[in-house]
Amino acid sequence: MEDTIFDKILRGEIPSEKVYEDEVVYAFKDINPVAPVHVLVIPKSKLEKFSDFEDLSSLEVGNFIKKVSIVAKELGLKEDGYRVVFNNGRDGGQEVNYLHAHILGGKKLSFSRL
Ligand code: AMP
Repeated sequence: MEDTIFDKILRGEIPSEKVYEDEVVYAFKDINPVAPVHVLVIPKSKLEKFSDFEDLSSLEVGNFIKKVSIVAKELGLKEDGYRVVFNNGRDGGQEVNYLHAHILGGKKLSFSRL
């Protein structure tokens, strides 16, 4: 697998603004935010993209999704809401080949046709 910028962040070789960490996930602020709150959540056990979830057990997938929900709560977004985005592959606009959930919030987000 390609050694990505997120591998380097996880190893501490590149700085990041950590917002949450436990044994399963690492969460940090996006360097180029598109919303007032824009955080990326990555699994410590690497996957390249969302479609790799098919290779995991339902429990492992569920554990990751649950952590994304917990990070959003820790960010104070639970009450007003937020959006979770996974860009998957070329057509999905994925730039970094290390699975990551974008948590977006802090304002009412629009949803337009692309
Ligand atoms: P994606 O297009 O889903 O692969 O999103 C990659 C995201 O990573 C983009 O929103 C970038 O702004 C973000 N990003 C790239 N490099 C860094 C970095 N060093 N620290 C934090 N976020 C980054």
